[in-house]
Amino acid sequence: MTEVLNEMPKAYEPGKVEQKWYQFWLEKGYFKPEIGPEKKPFVIIMPPPNVTGELHVGHALTATLEDIMTRWHRMKGDPTLWLPGIDHAGIAGQVVVEQLLAKEGTSRHQLGREKFIERMWQWAKQCRQTIAGQHQRLGISCDWNREVFTLDEGPSRAVRTAFVRLYDKGLIYKGERIINWCPRCATALSDLETDHKEIAGHLWYVRYPLAEDDGFITVATTRPETILGDTAVAVNPQDERFKAMVGKKVVLPAVSRLIPIVADEAVDPSFGTGAVKITPAHDPVDFEVAQRQKLPLINILNPDATMNEAAGPYIGLDRFACREAILADLEKDGLLIKIEPYVHSVGHCQRCQTVIEPIASKQWFIKTQPLVQPAIKAVLDGRVTIIPQRFIKVYLNWMENIRDWCISRQLWWGHRIPVWYCPDCNQLTVAVEPPQICSHCGLTKIEQDPDVLDTWFSSALWPHSTLGWPDDTESLRYFYPTTVMETGYDILFFWVARMIMMGLEDTGDIPFHTVYLHGLIRDEKGEKMSKIRGNVLNPIDTLEKYGTDALRFALSTGTSPGNDIKLTPTKLEAGRNFANKLWNATRFVVRSIESNGIDMQIQQSLLPVEDRWILSRFNRTISTVTSLMEDFQFGEAQRQIHDFLWGEFCDWYVELTKIRLRSTVKEVLSPIAVLVHVLETSLRLLHPFMPFITEELWQNLKSRLPSDWRAGESIMVAVYPEADANAINPEAEQVMESVIEIIRSIRNIRAQYKVESARWTEAQIYGGKLTPAITPYSQAIQALARVKPVTFLNSRYQGQPNENILVLELKETQLVIMMGSTIDLEAEKKRLQKEIEQSQAEVARLAARLKDEAFLTKAPATVVDKTRQKFYTLTDKIKRLKQQILEL
Ligand SMILES: [Zn+2]
Ligand SMILES: [Zn+2]
Repeated sequence: MTEVLNEMPKAYEPGKVEQKWYQFWLEKGYFKPEIGPEKKPFVIIMPPPNVTGELHVGHALTATLEDIMTRWHRMKGDPTLWLPGIDHAGIAGQVVVEQLLAKEGTSRHQLGREKFIERMWQWAKQCRQTIAGQHQRLGISCDWNREVFTLDEGPSRAVRTAFVRLYDKGLIYKGERIINWCPRCATALSDLETDHKEIAGHLWYVRYPLAEDDGFITVATTRPETILGDTAVAVNPQDERFKAMVGKKVVLPAVSRLIPIVADEAVDPSFGTGAVKITPAHDPVDFEVAQRQKLPLINILNPDATMNEAAGPYIGLDRFACREAILADLEKDGLLIKIEPYVHSVGHCQRCQTVIEPIASKQWFIKTQPLVQPAIKAVLDGRVTIIPQRFIKVYLNWMENIRDWCISRQLWWGHRIPVWYCPDCNQLTVAVEPPQICSHCGLTKIEQDPDVLDTWFSSALWPHSTLGWPDDTESLRYFYPTTVMETGYDILFFWVARMIMMGLEDTGDIPFHTVYLHGLIRDEKGEKMSKIRGNVLNPIDTLEKYGTDALRFALSTGTSPGNDIKLTPTKLEAGRNFANKLWNATRFVVRSIESNGIDMQIQQSLLPVEDRWILSRFNRTISTVTSLMEDFQFGEAQRQIHDFLWGEFCDWYVELTKIRLRSTVKEVLSPIAVLVHVLETSLRLLHPFMPFITEELWQNLKSRLPSDWRAGESIMVAVYPEADANAINPEAEQVMESVIEIIRSIRNIRAQYKVESARWTEAQIYGGKLTPAITPYSQAIQALARVKPVTFLNSRYQGQPNENILVLELKETQLVIMMGSTIDLEAEKKRLQKEIEQSQAEVARLAARLKDEAFLTKAPATVVDKTRQKFYTLTDKIKRLKQQILEL
């Protein structure tokens, strides 16, 4: 294949290559798993982001971590499936579109259910495109052919099937319970969808007059409007103060209804006056008291939290207006005897921040107890591993205290409950496919339950429903149980716990082997990112500014299971700088190949110490990185790769090879084969973290390598590096560590003493047993530490250190720096002048060749290119040498 090699641009411009490579990967079909029946697949089902709007940095973190795992396993040769999806988001989705409708001056009720659902689908389609586009910008390698939406036919049928199965087993029932009601969203909410906030409120003390006798019983309340729904006053049976009153009746203020005084263990004698009002339809504790005491339930609220007909004279008032009205009336009647400030916890709707009302309501519930036991067992016996381990306790604790799960929502957007009511025989028909007739009496006029299921019901089925369940599909057989469920620790209960319960219930098997929980993203100050704080980073703006790889680098920096991370401009800049550093190093290697040619044969026996050292360090890095990746320590793995590439490869090895490449001594072995080997393999090691730049650099490198060098057509399907234990060489490491330590120490001293860079320092080194190994690095030490001359001592320096002579005891060596020394300026100038003359002669020769028409037309393009390169390199060199003379 002949290919015109474009020169690598001076700087990395992510915007110019990212799109190109993503399209290339897509077209090549690399994201599709290659199914090998005999091989164990690696499978991640993406926790589907909500269809509401756009991705935030939390999604970017999820995507980055999952892509790291996916790319890594794919390169290791595992059949790899990462299945993407989108969640319809139930209440959150409906709220967004309702807000849009409100802006247009209409509402879902004006539109009607059918039109509203149509509108939801339209909006969801747009959002799905946006989200998929954003995900692609992040470079993620999931199998887009398998993308699923929770409301697609497959997952929807799975939802109905799971419902019917649970119902048939008696694990789903309809019952009256206290639920969290959001008056704005007009739906039931789970406890997890309710934010509890400490509110500075009041405790009002109200007298309830006794019906038959003179006197009162006083109760305290934080919600006086609920007086209208009281059906009893309760006291503790042990409370001597009230013993005589139990069984008597009181007149309920404001509505003059007679209610009994009852005795119940649940009453805390130390709260308020020791007597409490019982409002069973609007308080979970009171609801239970009412069950025990056989008290009636009186619901006083309409769904929009205005007062209903049970509120008597207050009918139609909003709940808070009603509170004011009742307080005024109580005051007037002399029944309000005390007001205390009182801080208490008040539930708010997580979606719209409206104050929640606890309301007794008929809802559908799942009996969780029978599902909990197998889910607890799966974690306890280690079939499901939770990382980090400390969350096992959190999981078990939640599971052990779980209540029945309210799964019905009074929404229109979602999976409609597959239950039909018969007005004739009052029986229910529960079916996967919409029935034509009542299954009991055959009536055709049956009506479906208007409610939809909690979004988390469909989420709970996600690992198996996305793979084809309830059908016995090839995908389900091959990919289930999946490998890793990667998600934020904040949705352990929403997601993970329910998936384990339902996976086991529906398929008899666990949904995944490992749960990896990542932390939350915080800003520089450690604050959670939120729109209210205004510290939110939009991932797309960020990747446009810094490049996708820099964003991914910043997100994986310091990441470890379960711990929050800070996403800071410093980390983003570090990511960008790292990309630039790699770019420059690769550009140097590419140019070196172009001007020197390449022989990829690495002759082990001839390698100088620095080559053995870099190969040794590199293989150690590969080995460490591999075990860190296996241990889910992606942040630390990334740091190891970064530190090796930046700290050892770029800063030291590349600099040392520059000296070798400049050398005119024939015997010096070309470093290019090792340079290329380490760079190419490192790019593969880094690829899962920074996919775009590694592909771009790898392709640039590959195109300069001999055609028989078989590397495949993309880095993302090249093999992941494996450590070669034979390359580990402690002797070479010891020598090079000493050389580096010497150079570093001299540099530090020069910096400390503010020695101008043009001035040279003299140094003496005592290397002990390392002397023979270090001596060949005298030129490197000179060049990299700006010392001249460097002499090696046969024995330790014994003289007294003073302000001009610094003696440093290093790990293996002793370093003596002569601060007072200067070099012979005249001799140095002469040497430089001579070098300039030699170079100028060569430049003239090259210039003549490049003017020669015959040469330009007949010689192969690569030879002409090489000549031109050499011409520029030498011209540069002359400029530099002239500058050096000036500096002297
Ligand atoms: Zn709400
Ligand atoms: Zn019927």
